[in-house]
Parts: sequence; C-alpha cells; structure tokens
Amino acid sequence: MSTVSTAPTTAPVSLTGSNIHLAFGTNKVLRGVDVHVDAGKTTTVIGPSGSGKSTLLRALNRLHEPDQGDILIDGRSVLKDNPDKLRQRIGMVFQHFNLFPHKTVADNVALGPQKLLGLSKEAARATALEQLESVGLSAKADSRPGNLSGGQQQRVAIARALAMKPEIMFFDEATSALDPELVKGVLALMADLASTGMSMIVVTHEMGFARSVSDTVVFMDHGTVIETGPPAALFDNAETDRLQQFLAQVL
Ligand code: ADP
Ligand code: MG
Repeated sequence: MSTVSTAPTTAPVSLTGSNIHLAFGTNKVLRGVDVHVDAGKTTTVIGPSGSGKSTLLRALNRLHEPDQGDILIDGRSVLKDNPDKLRQRIGMVFQHFNLFPHKTVADNVALGPQKLLGLSKEAARATALEQLESVGLSAKADSRPGNLSGGQQQRVAIARALAMKPEIMFFDEATSALDPELVKGVLALMADLASTGMSMIVVTHEMGFARSVSDTVVFMDHGTVIETGPPAALFDNAETDRLQQFLAQVL
C-alpha cells in the first residue's frame, strides 16, 4: 500500500458542469446534469451502470462535446477554449490503464511531457522519475508494464497523468479492473492525492472511498442527478427511494 505524498505542483482549480445535456442519436444520456468540485476537493460520482457517469467525465473534458450546458473552470467557461488545451489541464485515469507494453515504465510516463509539454528527453525523464517516486514505483522505472501487477500499472497510469501537471484529476472506475487484493493500494494513493489538495472527480463503485474521501457525492441515474451532498447526508440519510435502493444493492 502506498502512503507516499504526491503534492500537486499546479494550483488546484474548481470545476463546474452546469445543465450538461448529451445525446448519442436518440439516446439522451445526460439530461441536464449539474456537478461541481471546489478547488482542492473531491467529488465522487456514484450510480448504476449505464447511468451516464463515464459520459459525464467525457463531456466535462469535451471528448464528447455537450449538446447544451456549460463547463467552467474557476468560474470561467472553457467551451470556447481549444479542446486539446483543456484536456491538458485535466488528468484522466481509466479502468484500463493502456500503458504502452513495449516501452519502459519511465518512458510511458515521460511520453506526454516530452510530446505535449515540449520538455527535452532528459527533463521528461526527470519528471517521470519524480512522479514514479511519488507513487512509490521508482524501482520499476526501467521495467516493462507487463512485469508489474495491475495495481502497480494503475499507479503508473496515475503517475503518467500527474506528470502532465494537471490542475484537476478525473478517475473513471480506476480500480474496477483490478484483482481485489490490489484495489486497496490504488485507493490509498487516490486518497493520498486528495489529501494533498488535488481537485478530483472520481467515478467509483467503492462506497468506502466515496464516504471517507469525498467532500461531495453525486448520485446519478438515467442521466440525471438524483441526489447530491456531503457523504454523510447521502449514505446515512438518502432522501429518494432510488438512492436507498442503489445503496441497498451496493453496501
Ligand atoms: P456509466 O459510466 O454510468 O456506466 P455510460 O456513460 O458509459 O454509463 O453510458 C451511458 C449510456 O450512454 C449507455 O446507454 C451507453 O450505451 C451510452 N453510450 C456511452 N458512450 C456511447 C458512445 N460513444 N456512443 C453511443 N452511446 C454511448
Ligand atoms: Mg462507466
């Protein structure tokens, strides 16, 4: 388990998605979603499979352009910004880490800083080694991803995202593909990152994490936010039948 500190080097930002609508053809996947994370805080998004959680993250970083609504970082709309520039500000960690198997761990982490931030090969490697240290994996820098456990590979993916000096991090079911014994270490690293003051939006089925790490929990179903608030309010005093039923199934 990692308890290494991973202090962000970029000032954290707030992010707001306001009245986000997004349809795929006739399938209205997001129907006016409001979501917010304060600077340096963690908002967790929970809800049944198919409720639109992944689509929401992809709408917020404009991998899918919303049909309606606004996205604000520190109160300023980013809808007219260059989408690539926006995505550089947002670190993403997915269920499947998608590391390049034939590159070393350090090269996987150094690639973005070199190609997208324009760092020299040496500076990119130094950044990579620094981030690998922050996730407790310095010793694996010159290994291939295939020689690491799934949990270690996911920590490399987190290091890869952090190497881009993001202002906010998105996690989409980052532990769902891991063997059960590897989940804890990755959640601990995410909790660590939250405690250093990184702004984070975390989609997860890990209710323990949602309860103990989040500042705000958002419960989505069928493309709408059913309830939102501090974890204690949602987990101990769910107001709607839908959230009560969901919690009864997952807790
Ligand atoms: P969740 O992450 O909560 O499980 P998703 O956001 O993945 O939910 O999916 C919500 C709905 O959007 C589903 O009905 C899914 O089929 C649909 N969907 C997601 N991505 C696409 C896409 N690229 N094209 C068409 N439909 C999609
Ligand atoms: Mg999903």
